[in-house]
Amino acid sequence: MKRIPRALSEVIESFERLPGIGPKSAARLGFYLLSVPDGFSEKLADSVVNLKKKIKICRVCFGVGEDEICEICQDKKRDKKQICVVERADELLAIEALGGYNGLYHVLGGVINPLDHVGPDDLKIVELISRVEGDGIEEVILATNPTIEGEGTALYIKKKLEGIGYKGKMTRIGSGLPMGAELGYADQVTLSRAFEGRREI
Ligand SMILES: [Zn+2]
Repeated sequence: MKRIPRALSEVIESFERLPGIGPKSAARLGFYLLSVPDGFSEKLADSVVNLKKKIKICRVCFGVGEDEICEICQDKKRDKKQICVVERADELLAIEALGGYNGLYHVLGGVINPLDHVGPDDLKIVELISRVEGDGIEEVILATNPTIEGEGTALYIKKKLEGIGYKGKMTRIGSGLPMGAELGYADQVTLSRAFEGRREI
């Protein structure tokens, strides 16, 4: 079999490391890039390099932005009494894209998962608890995914909040989202319904 030229195989190998991309898709993308108009590959390469250079993790909510404190946390018009807890920053963006929520967020950075050796201390749970303690929060929306780990993490946070004597509302999204679903991939109608239909836990 003829070997793939090195410059091409390097690109294919890089694509293969991306989540959800298998060897065939990686090869298809690699060959596709050979056919794109001039300028596109430079733009793609630059934007990937800039990603790490320019994007910062917000030191309040751990979402992404271009400053130390993200736009949402800085926005004076946001409702500072509500805080929506998500696993990842892309889920924050999915909820934000619905357009109906005007509160704050908190990105945990994952879920508690003993099989993957992820414990509470590996997530931004302590930071969440201290935000709730200090910021006059009236509703904590637990919007972790409806997976076993997501439910377990929501329950863990609930207990921690009860432990500090938090008296506000704690709600859980989920109605309409199938078990095992991921918020970031749900369609807008389903996600909107799950968000609006959140219940107190
Ligand atoms: Zn922020």
